[in-house]
Amino acid sequence: MMAYDSSNIFARILRKEIPARTVYEDDFALAFHDIAPQAPKHVLVIPKGPYISIADFGATAPSDEIAGFWRAVSKVAEQEGLTQDGFRLISNSGSNSGQEVPHFHVHLFGGTKLGPLLV
Ligand code: 5GP
Repeated sequence: MMAYDSSNIFARILRKEIPARTVYEDDFALAFHDIAPQAPKHVLVIPKGPYISIADFGATAPSDEIAGFWRAVSKVAEQEGLTQDGFRLISNSGSNSGQEVPHFHVHLFGGTKLGPLLV
């Protein structure tokens, strides 16, 4: 697996070197609005540790970080008012998926009735 590149844009957001519209933060996760939203609500949730993708995160992160991250994802969905009508999570991993930013992230989409998943 390739090495984590700490100059990626989400690492810079975590270090507060560039701004983001934060909606949630705790010890394990940061959540902020996507700069190019693809749904009325489009939030990115990222772990604070240096993980490239879900493959890397699931295989190498300590259990408390994994648990804390996914609990934060649920909290963000609840906080953003998405649990009643529903929402969708997507995580791109690697080049076949089109992953642009090499810091593991989950896209959270909601705020409308979403169309079918595209492949
Ligand atoms: P990926 O294709 O890696 O799964 O998704 C990366 C996402 O990050 C894209 O939806 C893109 O719009 C978003 N993004 C890229 N650069 C920035 C940025 O500087 N700030 C924010 N908030 N989102 C970004």
